[in-house]
Amino acid sequence: MIEVTHLQKSFGTLPVLKDVSFTVRQGETIAVIGPSGSGKSTMLRSLIHLEDITGGSIRINGEVLVSEGRYTGAARIKAITSRMGMVFQQFNLFPHLTVRDNLELAPRAQKLESAQEIRRRSDMLLAKVGLADKADAFPSRLSGGQKQRVAIARALMLKPDILLFDEPTSALDPELTGEVLQVIRQLAEERMTMIVVTHEMSFARDVSDRVIFMDQGEIAEAGTPAQLFGNPQLDRTRAFLGRFT
Ligand code: ATP
Ligand code: MG
Repeated sequence: MIEVTHLQKSFGTLPVLKDVSFTVRQGETIAVIGPSGSGKSTMLRSLIHLEDITGGSIRINGEVLVSEGRYTGAARIKAITSRMGMVFQQFNLFPHLTVRDNLELAPRAQKLESAQEIRRRSDMLLAKVGLADKADAFPSRLSGGQKQRVAIARALMLKPDILLFDEPTSALDPELTGEVLQVIRQLAEERMTMIVVTHEMSFARDVSDRVIFMDQGEIAEAGTPAQLFGNPQLDRTRAFLGRFT
């Protein structure tokens, strides 16, 4: 569960997020859409504390990350954000490590599980994303779609309660987006709690429980896919959606 209230973020004097409030319940998939520069990435990065917000509150699974602009202590921040995973447009795999080592690096460093258990889970997750045969390959030998599926499996290795995706298919050739979206769709069916920033309107419509339309640093409109795509209330929502038809 994610609760965001009156979130504000400025870079210097530039306000980028202006009074953003929303809640994501356990097991929901939220799609975030909106024009370039509307603050989608900044909002997502704020949730996992890759950005320091300048005002407002964020609670994750009932725990306060930041309250009215004041952050909790470093150890608490780490504990809260370690339950969240993020997948980026540019995969961010370690190029000098095999696929398997990309998955196992962080869990091994955490020392919470035996090497055997980590191997069991990396095998299981590579199979889940359809890459059981690529365990020993290096990232440079994979397609973009395969790299992104590795990145998702790597995020899942840390057993996140919440997964954040920032345009996970935007760097991919069109024919490769489907295989990545299929993995995210399966996670949605398993009721992983997810926020997916995307320009894939058919994915947002078919897979998400709710859609948030961001524009100029605000949530301009939010609702079910049927409401937002079928009956948008604002001219600016209609104008944005009109670009995709
Ligand atoms: P896109 O669809 O292009 O990814 P976005 O909705 O994700 O856009 P953000 O990346 O959140 O938008 O950026 C929102 C605004 O904040 C933009 O005006 C951007 O230039 C500005 N911005 C983002 N990061 C920084 C930064 N580190 N320093 C200064 N300004 C920034
Ligand atoms: Mg962005």
